[in-house]
Amino acid sequence: MHYFAHRQRQHMSIVIAIGLVFANLIGACSPETQSSEPITTTLRPVVTLAATTQTPTATTTQTPVMQTSITTPSPVVAACASDPALAGVRYDISAELDWLAHKIEVEQYVTFRNDTNALITNLAFNIEANQDEESFLLTRITTPEGKLISRYTLDSTHLTIPLRAALKPNCETTLILDYTLQIPEIQDGYNEGHLGYWGYSARQTNLGMWLPLVAAQDHDGAWITPAPHWLGEHFVLRTADFVVELMVKNAPENLQVAGPGGVSQPGDYIWRFEITNAREVAISLSDQFQTLQTTTEDGVVVELFYFADPDVPTLDTPRHALFTAADAMALYHDLYGPYPYDRVVVVEGDFPDGMEFCGLVFVSEDWFRTWQGVPNDWLTIITAHEIAHQWWYALVGNDQGQCPYLDEALAIYSEVLFFEHYYPDYLDWWWDFRVMVYEPTGYVDTPIYDFYSPRGYINAIYLRGARMMHLLRADIGDDQFWAWLRTYATRMADQIAYPADFWGALPSEVYVQTAATRANYLRQPDLVFSPDRIP
Ligand SMILES: [Zn+2]
Repeated sequence: MHYFAHRQRQHMSIVIAIGLVFANLIGACSPETQSSEPITTTLRPVVTLAATTQTPTATTTQTPVMQTSITTPSPVVAACASDPALAGVRYDISAELDWLAHKIEVEQYVTFRNDTNALITNLAFNIEANQDEESFLLTRITTPEGKLISRYTLDSTHLTIPLRAALKPNCETTLILDYTLQIPEIQDGYNEGHLGYWGYSARQTNLGMWLPLVAAQDHDGAWITPAPHWLGEHFVLRTADFVVELMVKNAPENLQVAGPGGVSQPGDYIWRFEITNAREVAISLSDQFQTLQTTTEDGVVVELFYFADPDVPTLDTPRHALFTAADAMALYHDLYGPYPYDRVVVVEGDFPDGMEFCGLVFVSEDWFRTWQGVPNDWLTIITAHEIAHQWWYALVGNDQGQCPYLDEALAIYSEVLFFEHYYPDYLDWWWDFRVMVYEPTGYVDTPIYDFYSPRGYINAIYLRGARMMHLLRADIGDDQFWAWLRTYATRMADQIAYPADFWGALPSEVYVQTAATRANYLRQPDLVFSPDRIP
């Protein structure tokens, strides 16, 4: 909606700011970096400012900024009458996609509230699209009053915007980012191709991790700016409210757009997605999409966007994918607690593997194309897996780079629970096919940065993660196991969980029963706490 009102561009000096060096100071998945006090969006009383002078954040080291031109830095106006009912971060995004040029012009309003007790002197964003300099061009940053903010640094995926007026606790500031995205072509092969959630193919354009996102903060208020890694995910995403209006020009006639949350079409070739408590917004477009839809008993709408296969003129494959997703939604709702949104969208992705986003998941066309008409196949496995990420990623966030097992071990063990419930005859097959054949090794609590091959990463985090979860369940019994996962999901909903939160959701007398399994599967088996610190 801001698209048309604010689209007129002023010719302002483009400021190139370089030279920021970010140290990767996010520690390993270790006790020192864990917080049993998660990031909270609860408003706190304003404290005496003199006592809370912010020291430079631990995550950045600044070197002098070089600028090609100087414009007057604008103060960022703080308004402290913020509405506590609103999310701490809110995005209002207008994007215009040129379908033929694979190019997007974006105007992104970002409103950020300081929910810490300290002054905030700069705002940090993670911009994954800027991993490739040819994909992202920051045009300008302005205030709502139109004042240009020129003193920023953009280095790889890290954008830092110093605030001339420090932001006091409970105060908000709004910035407008204008930028251009050039969508990359989806690459062949697994290593590059699995990143096709941000890319286009001959029949699909995928916008995943395309938006600059305000960095999460650790319990000291420091910005979390994870370093990219070619393997796994490294994201640490806070929840926010999103409104994304996407206009498509040069659009093909039958274009369909898949996205999360509430969907509307305010005009021709304009789609509007609204979602609250989300960590990002992913969108997929194609003029070849077919759709199927169902609703779970819990009232969640499950939608499938798939490609018709001319060689297989039945609906068996898409129906299997749709009902696998719906069955998984129903089971995980029963086991883990309510799903956070009204809809979930499954998109057949024109790239290898699968990928989770909030309210939307990709499942590779490989698994649709090769489905053999039986439950014990990859289409079932990956669909059930990606749906599980709606709880272990979307609802309960984690540091996916440092502690990938907190979402992946739970997602793969959800596959076990899915087969156990719906296809118990194939449970043994699952363990053999998915885990045992690889004779996996490696510690489950290893960061992604320690791996140099997908196989080693999957073996340690996923496959041994599944084994660990299964043994933990045997250690403590089903009732305690379900109570644990449900307590963890409830307690950490909408937040970013660390191992201390995960293990700390076990009562202390139950936690000690898991010692042998932890010793076998974790590099740091007793990282949490003395039992008397367990909540
Ligand atoms: Zn996964």
